[in-house]
Amino acid sequence: MPQLSTLDDWNRLVDGLSIRTEAFIDGRYVPAAGGETFDCVNPANSQVIARIAATDAEDVNRAVIAARRAFDSGRWPRMAPSARKEILLRFAELIRQNQDELAALETIDMGKPIADSTTIDIPGAARCIAWYAEAVDKVYDEVAPTSREQIGLITREPVGVVACIVPWNFPLLMAAWKIGPALAAGNAVILKPSEKSPLTAIRVAELAAEAGIPDGIFNVLPGFGDKTGKPLALHEDVDCLAFTGSTAIGKQILQYSGQSNMKRVWPECGGKSPNIVFADCPDLDAAVQAAGFGIFFNQGEMCSAASRLLVEDSIREAFLEKLLAFADTMQPGDPLDPATRMGAIVDKVQFDTVMNYIARGKEEGATLRTGGSRVLEDTRGWFVPPTVFDDVDNQMSIAQEEIFGPVLSTIAFGSAEQALSLGNDVRYGLAAAVWTRDINKAHRIAKGLRAGTVWINCYDAGDLTVPFGGFKESGNGRDKSLHALDKYVELKTTWIELGG
Ligand code: NAD
Repeated sequence: MPQLSTLDDWNRLVDGLSIRTEAFIDGRYVPAAGGETFDCVNPANSQVIARIAATDAEDVNRAVIAARRAFDSGRWPRMAPSARKEILLRFAELIRQNQDELAALETIDMGKPIADSTTIDIPGAARCIAWYAEAVDKVYDEVAPTSREQIGLITREPVGVVACIVPWNFPLLMAAWKIGPALAAGNAVILKPSEKSPLTAIRVAELAAEAGIPDGIFNVLPGFGDKTGKPLALHEDVDCLAFTGSTAIGKQILQYSGQSNMKRVWPECGGKSPNIVFADCPDLDAAVQAAGFGIFFNQGEMCSAASRLLVEDSIREAFLEKLLAFADTMQPGDPLDPATRMGAIVDKVQFDTVMNYIARGKEEGATLRTGGSRVLEDTRGWFVPPTVFDDVDNQMSIAQEEIFGPVLSTIAFGSAEQALSLGNDVRYGLAAAVWTRDINKAHRIAKGLRAGTVWINCYDAGDLTVPFGGFKESGNGRDKSLHALDKYVELKTTWIELGG
């Protein structure tokens, strides 16, 4: 395979792409029932890449019927886990084999650097599917500790038809975190990618079929939230809904479940994570890099973004000086250039949201230390440079609300108690970090933080072995690790009286 090492190489690959645009239902690509399409736009230059099937309630119904039929046929759920494993391993391998194409699709679709698509998103998605494939023939059911006269079996069964509604910031990776365990557990799956980033989900559907996943077991419905997501969430024959997205829509999804069939719902939502740096931080340079990367990586479009830098007063200015120098090294560029570290914001709507928050930060009295204005305007792309605010009060909107852009709020603190109270003083609880060489302080703060993940002397670290999800209004689901399998199975008790 030729090495793609320059911008020209990637542009040539993109020019030669033949892009899949239709929904995938019951093992084949089909146009939307209503014949509607929507434009898929490259946010780095505002060019229309493709016209995508805009599915609606009728397509949802077709997909649910296909998924239910496929599930009820038993071919997939009753297949030996070791056989499902082989098919899912093939699926992961096909994703790897098509990595360059998938990475290019991800980058032109949502603006992230190709260096990230090729090293993080696509290999991460393949690794996730392979991880659950490998896990599924190693998890055992349970026998209850009854007396000798009974046997209590506790077995796990797939829930049935699982809908996965995912966001645009890591399109294929967030999908893999759900479809990996859902398929491995034996369910039929309907994936709805974001309307802002449908390309890789549509493409991998045929790879799943090529790997041997039976027709109807994996379906993909591109479309909008209100036209496709909502009917999916309200559908009476969907058993489980795994959602990743904003807290606002997560709350609606919970209501849709109550209005319909009480399907189990797993919302995994937004964040406003505190990155707490004490003066006794063991490595200031490492902390600066992690703080910068934590907010500027993926254009700041990260649920776990380190968007609130809580820094101890005595090192605040020294820390900020270094951070501003780091920010200079992350200036946006053409996402298809392998040297680019920061790409384009996903679309104009999100760009406007980010710019509005920057304006509000200034109005509320925070000090803008770098960034804050659109750059590379002549490309017609939506580029925002690394933006750092200082003198932020934790009650300002830029400290309380998820911006989902490369905008950092710096908040100084004087004591560990104050750091902890500021850290928890938001409605979110997705992630947090603590930097200190004092192990007791690290553990005390970690225990006190109401967050699903706490990193100590690192940020955004971890692998598939640990769960990821939120406290509070960051949702209640957990992706990754064996715990994620629990979302997609029913527990069944079989009680046996042995008699005489
Ligand atoms: P969003 O809530 O706008 O959309 C998410 C998905 O929901 C999309 O597919 C969208 O089409 C769909 N949707 C929208 N309205 C709907 C409705 N009424 N009914 C059903 N579906 C609907 O979020 P987004 O802008 O795509 O993604 C950004 C958000 O995702 C951020 O808040 C971010 O923090 C969050 N996120 C969380 C995690 C996590 O693991 N907790 C990971 C990544 C992103």
